[in-house]
Amino acid sequence: MTQYPALHMMIDGERVTGGGRNTFPVVNPATGMKLGDLPLATQADLDRALDTAARGFARWRHSTSQERAAVLEGAARLMEERREDLARIATMEQGKTLPEARIEVMMNVGLFRFYAGEVFRLYGRALVRPSGLRATVIHEPVGPVAAFAPWNFPLGNPGRKLGAPIAAGCSVILKAAEETPASALGVLQCLYDAGLPQEVAQAVFGEPAEVSSYLLRSPVIRKLSFTGSTQVGKLLIKLAAEDLKRTTMELGGHGPVLVFDDVDVDQVLDAVVPHKFRNAGQVCVAPTRFIVEEGIYDRFLEGFVRRAQAIRVGNGLEDGVQMGPMANARRPEAMERLIGDAVRAGATLHTGGARIGNQGFFFAPTVLSDTPLSAEIMNEEPFGPVALINRYAGEEAMIAEANRLPYGLAAYCWTSNAKRQKTIQNRLETGMLALNTTTIGGADAPFGGVKWSGHGHEDGPEGLAACLVTKTVHEG
Ligand code: NAD
Repeated sequence: MTQYPALHMMIDGERVTGGGRNTFPVVNPATGMKLGDLPLATQADLDRALDTAARGFARWRHSTSQERAAVLEGAARLMEERREDLARIATMEQGKTLPEARIEVMMNVGLFRFYAGEVFRLYGRALVRPSGLRATVIHEPVGPVAAFAPWNFPLGNPGRKLGAPIAAGCSVILKAAEETPASALGVLQCLYDAGLPQEVAQAVFGEPAEVSSYLLRSPVIRKLSFTGSTQVGKLLIKLAAEDLKRTTMELGGHGPVLVFDDVDVDQVLDAVVPHKFRNAGQVCVAPTRFIVEEGIYDRFLEGFVRRAQAIRVGNGLEDGVQMGPMANARRPEAMERLIGDAVRAGATLHTGGARIGNQGFFFAPTVLSDTPLSAEIMNEEPFGPVALINRYAGEEAMIAEANRLPYGLAAYCWTSNAKRQKTIQNRLETGMLALNTTTIGGADAPFGGVKWSGHGHEDGPEGLAACLVTKTVHEG
């Protein structure tokens, strides 16, 4: 039986805890019970982490591709071996079902393996002029990275924040979410146990705004990597701009799902309904606005509601549970606010719309239809188990609705019409498009958004390139 581990920070190879530091209570969202107390960084802790990151970078930037690959491959193997423990810890502190948490472990394994191969392909290039002049283009690691990972993928987000900088030869100070620290520490420990020098990657926790502003003010940090809301992302990018630090910003979304009359409705529903409610909807690429063509609308809505009502909600550690609680007390509150506003604005509530039980943060799978575009929920990322289904007449109206918002992270489209598939590919303003599938990522595929969903990528060769700078040497 997996025990929830004792909590600490990792600074300069030391497990930092106690010492009169402030603490944050980590809570199991399925029970509301405290799991542990997380120590929070003092200014002296952050100064020490910054000094260490500078040292870590001075060392790791000169590591060979073989060393980096061995660490990443070794950590992947250890995560596979420790999959069950890592997954249980993630479920305990975040709430998602155990099968979902296991998938998250394997996402990290795949990503670390991909980067273990990719480090051998950090090629430069030689430019040879007719005059005999030669120039060499070299890629170098950008420097120490300050990385901020949210709580919705407690293992996967830290994996992304650590994997690419380490592959590129950078050092990293990771501030994972205070709500899910043990998962992040578990991933980091796999890297240490695989031979990563401990000054290369560290973990701090604290009051998020204080930690981020302190780290981003330091000239040691050369890159900001942030995953979270658009609102916080805009604040951090301003701080990074003061020192012209590089940025990778994975921000909010409001995923449109276009479903045309020409599809097999049951087949689409069997795919999209579980995808909607995965991780209780707390996914930046979640399908959110279902933009359904009028000919199939009634059947689609009826089938969606029926499937949503059949979802088994409960403690993610229990067998057969299909949706766990929401991750923290703020989320059910946000659901009540957004759904209440939508219903007052004229939306029809078909199922759900309320908390379940009186312990933990459970919220019922919810379906709203005919929600006016002016309702908050049609404009603000709901980040929860709520599907918004509206009826549209034809392609133009559907594309216009998909592109209406300033977000552009993930979009989905279901159609069997080949010409329309091309039109959709060309016209949707999105960083990622899933066409007749719910698959929206992979270790080798760049993951990122456009417009208010951010810029830059994680995963794929692009994720590694984002941790590099280019130097051109001209030789006479
Ligand atoms: P939030 O925006 O305050 O926090 C989101 C994450 O950002 C947390 O991990 C938090 O620790 C971190 N954060 C917040 N302020 C920060 C700061 N000043 N500096 C550094 N990090 C900071 O709010 P929340 O209640 O946790 O989530 C609310 C919204 O955030 C959600 O509705 C969703 O839109 C968005 N969110 C997005 C993702 C994602 O994967 N893109 C993940 C979690 C939350």
